[in-house]
Amino acid sequence: MTTTLITGANKGLGFETARRLVEVGHTVYVGARDAERGRDAAERLGARFVQLDVTDDASVRAAVKSVEAEGGLDVLVNNAGMEVRGENNAVPAAADTTADEMRTVFETNVFGVVRVIHAFLPLLQRSEAPVVVNVSSGLASLTTLSDPDSPAHFYQAVAYPASKTAVNMITVQYAKAFPKMRINAVEPGFTATDLNGRTGTQTIAEGAEIIVRMARLGPDGPTGGYVDVNGPLPW
Ligand code: NAP
Repeated sequence: MTTTLITGANKGLGFETARRLVEVGHTVYVGARDAERGRDAAERLGARFVQLDVTDDASVRAAVKSVEAEGGLDVLVNNAGMEVRGENNAVPAAADTTADEMRTVFETNVFGVVRVIHAFLPLLQRSEAPVVVNVSSGLASLTTLSDPDSPAHFYQAVAYPASKTAVNMITVQYAKAFPKMRINAVEPGFTATDLNGRTGTQTIAEGAEIIVRMARLGPDGPTGGYVDVNGPLPW
């Protein structure tokens, strides 16, 4: 039996990933910062609920205790994420980016990932086949965003892509440190969720595909990679 925790699973890509993993027989914890939204999602999915705000040490510590008490953890999907958007869903221009905006985005997307990995490491290390999936973004790629011929080149915000580039580096470093674990960063693709005001061009089912695939890796699967549904991406 595989036990899986997905952060930010009350909606969007996290919810769909939870649905798919329940379907294939995982025992799934829906991590959500809001108890009502999280319980409701877990109930709809036939999953368990655990309160978990990735920006809050006490919340993450309490989540570790309850998951440990109920049997442990094999798969961690670091999915919770946010992007600052302005009026009409506009991304902030480089000139408007502030240290405060950067801090807010990094608090969830970067420090949140490290907080959760650090706290759940002892449980993952007790698993026979531990897996970590870090939900990154295509916008994490320095190669792509600096290429004038890439469609993503137009994207102007600073904080969100920088946070996801940090997620990629975090992935590489943990993968080297824990060779018995499968630890990968994934790009779901531009998906219609609340994160982008539903402007994404893919369905949530399409976006969740690579998250589900990498969450189901066996002990011989790849580690330390950055992939989308078609394979490895340039860093
Ligand atoms: P979404 O529908 O807005 O879902 C984001 C989830 O993260 C929500 O459940 C949200 O909870 C949760 N969350 C935010 N801050 C949190 C915190 N501090 N603690 C715990 N949970 C928190 O967006 P999504 O598109 O599914 O995003 C999922 C992941 O995919 C993110 O990491 C995002 O960066 C990444 N991604 C998305 C796209 C895309 O096109 N959609 C593309 C590439 C990567 P609340 O409901 O409480 O706010």
